[in-house]
Amino acid sequence: MSETSKEQELEIIAKEVAPCVRCKLSSTRTQTVFGEGNPNAEVMFIGEGPGKQEDLTGRPFVGKAGELLTRIIERGMGVPRDSVYIANITKCRPTVDLKFEKDRPPEDDEVIACSPFLLRQISIIQPKVIITLGNPSTRFILRTKEGITKLRGNWGDFHGIPVMPTYHPSYVIRNGGENSPLKRDVWEDIKKVLDRLDWKRPG
Ligand code: SF4
Repeated sequence: MSETSKEQELEIIAKEVAPCVRCKLSSTRTQTVFGEGNPNAEVMFIGEGPGKQEDLTGRPFVGKAGELLTRIIERGMGVPRDSVYIANITKCRPTVDLKFEKDRPPEDDEVIACSPFLLRQISIIQPKVIITLGNPSTRFILRTKEGITKLRGNWGDFHGIPVMPTYHPSYVIRNGGENSPLKRDVWEDIKKVLDRLDWKRPG
């Protein structure tokens, strides 16, 4: 599949996602957050769902967690953010009691409703490595009930694509941020990805 046709395929899905009312999250969103990045990306990051800033801008990982993810990509991996692909399981912001105040992980019915879009994104992009961020995306992609603390840093598999689970940037921020030992864990996980891809570690 050429780059143009991958882009076109992704645009077709994005057009389906924008007016989607398959689950209750459609009732509160400002807009859907489809995902963004290089259609030919070798690395695809998958988070759980958009937060406040993402809902307002229509872009994934643009709040504080997004800034940390961008640093992980640009400093930790040594590549521009737009060279990878970033998406979430749900394309609308999940909030507690649908009050649109406090973010929460997606519920099972929302994952079931929305995940076909993500699966189509993966099948078009065909990344060489998937990095799952936090429990919901790791459990969904690896079909497990195990928690991220146990799974992180260990390779999994998604239909032949190697999967590296690591902590969600929001979780790192909530637990000490830049100085957190969790951040060092994320760096270690990223180094394993670089080695697997045979990418040079940034100096
Ligand atoms: S979360 Fe997904 S399935 Fe639910 S309304 Fe939004 S786009 Fe549709």
